[in-house]
Formats: sequence, structure tokens, C-alpha cells
Amino acid sequence: MRISGKTRVLGIIGAPVGHSLSPAMQNAAIEELGLDYVYVPFPVEPDFLGQAVEGLRRLGVWGFNVTIPHKSAIIPFLDRIAPEAELCGAVNTVCREGELLVGYNTDGIGFLASVREDLGHDPRGSSVLILGAGGAARGAVAALAGAGVACIVIANRTRERGVALVERCQSAFPGVRFVVSSLAEDELVEHLRGADLLVNTTSVGMNGTNFECLPLFALPPAGLVYDMVYVPAETPLLAEAKTRGLACANGTGMLAAQGEAAFSLWTGRQAPRSIMRQKLLAELER
Ligand code: NAP
Repeated sequence: MRISGKTRVLGIIGAPVGHSLSPAMQNAAIEELGLDYVYVPFPVEPDFLGQAVEGLRRLGVWGFNVTIPHKSAIIPFLDRIAPEAELCGAVNTVCREGELLVGYNTDGIGFLASVREDLGHDPRGSSVLILGAGGAARGAVAALAGAGVACIVIANRTRERGVALVERCQSAFPGVRFVVSSLAEDELVEHLRGADLLVNTTSVGMNGTNFECLPLFALPPAGLVYDMVYVPAETPLLAEAKTRGLACANGTGMLAAQGEAAFSLWTGRQAPRSIMRQKLLAELER
């Protein structure tokens, strides 16, 4: 990779960013297509988010990803927000468009692409049970609703966050039935019985943690399980799903697909999918 005076700079802001796999994945794609771009990590603490965005703007940075904890907080510092990002109240990709910084959300696109590819499932008409109501859930709910699901149940530890998410989405998708649930066993049993797809969008599963009580036995035999967590590759939820013979997938495909969509937004080029996925898997194995 040669850096010249014309090299366009891409990057990722977050706190922390040291663990991010995006630099390896994006630079592999840049190299594969021989583009004059470079992708670098920028650690940004929450107190300095506004100054950092202004700095990126003034430095002419071409585009950047946004990760925890800035996905919602960045919105006031941008000039325009794409409709899907507006709907879920979260931005994970920023593009320079003329003088403007425009916020997009490719997490939802990545999630849907992975459900279609890794689970072979078209969510149109499905009933989906979402565990969680944070940033990742918001992207998934907006994407699923846009894809024409029939019913979305949002089960979150903090009920008010689930209620707020439904209020945000219900008017935009009047044809979708939204239900709020707690994580109590009896409520989950009822919702799992009617679900085609269970999606974990919480951080439970990272470092091998598990839900206190998730009655997976209630999911029908044809039910599917998607866990957005990708480290470890097999969370306790996915291990149990496999034991029960349920089709399941982790969040690696989503991570790859959101990165591919961001790459295309910045470069106007189709992302080299297999190279990006190979690089991601290699980094995850390391
Ligand atoms: P977030 O906004 O902080 O939301 C965290 C969610 O997890 C909330 O709903 C929270 O519930 C719930 N939660 C946390 N600890 C819990 C526990 N012990 N029991 C039950 N619920 C718990 O985070 P996020 O951005 O949505 O990210 C969530 C997860 O998705 C992370 O593991 C992240 O790595 C993953 N993710 C993956 C991808 C991908 O590409 N695969 C993309 C984005 C995110 P409360 O509301 O009650 O706090």
C-alpha cells in the first residue's frame, strides 16, 4: 500500500477501537481493488466527540465508521442523516458528500444480508423475537420491518427501552405488529412458540456469558436462531440451538456485510466480498 498526497483517508471512531476488525477488513478490500485509500483507527472519547468530528471534517477525511459508544451521539454533529439511520436513531457510517457529512446505517442492511445468506431465510411475513433494544436492535428492527415481517416482539431487560423502540417504529411501519416483552420465562415461552426467528442483539454471549433463563425449548423445530455476537464464534445460545437441532448463525456475516455496504458507499465500487470475509475470519481466528 503506497500513501501519496492524493490518498483518501477512511477510518473508524469509537472508544475503544483497538479491538476493531474493520481496519484489517477494509484495507484488505482497498488493496484487492488497488484503490488509493487507507483505513485507520481513531480512538475518540465521548467528551471529545464533537471536536473529533469537526477535526475529521477539516482534515478532509473521506469517510468513517462509527462504533460504540458514539452511534447515536454523533447525529447532532452531522449535516444530514439517511432515512434508515434516522429511523433507528443510529449511524455507523459517515460519508463526505461535497461539503456535507452524511450519516448512514449499514448495520441493518448487514444483518438482513446475513440472515438471508447464512440462514437462507427471507423474513417477509415472519414472526421475529428480538432480544434487546439497544443500538444493534434498532438497526435490526428497522431492517426487518422494512423487509416486510408480520410481527416483531422486542424483549428487553429494561422494558422502557423496548417501549421507546416500538414507539419509534410503529408509525413508520403500520403494517407490522409490534409487541413489547420482558425477559421473564413465561412471557418468553409464549413468544418463542409463535416465532420463526429468534435474534439476540444484546451483549449477552460475549466472553461466553449466557442468559439467566431463555426457554429455547419453546421455539418450533423449524425456528431459526441468529446471534449478533461473533466472539466467541459459538455463544452458549448457539451451542444450545445446535444441540436442539435448530439452524443458527453468529454475527460474523453481519459484520462483513455492514463493512461491504460501507465500502461501497465510500468508494462507489462493489466490495470484494470473499477477500473481506476471508480477512475477517483470519483475524477472528487469531
Ligand atoms: P447497546 O446499545 O449497549 O445495547 C445493549 C443491549 O444488551 C441492551 O438491550 C441491554 O439491555 C442488553 N443487555 C446487556 N447486558 C444484559 C444482560 N446481562 N441481560 C440482558 N440484557 C442485557 O449495545 P449494541 O450496540 O446494541 O450491541 C449489542 C451487541 O450486538 C454487542 O454484543 C455487539 O458486539 C453486537 N453487535 C454486533 C454487530 C455485528 O456486526 N455482528 C453489530 C452491532 C452490534 P438494557 O436495555 O436493559 O440495558
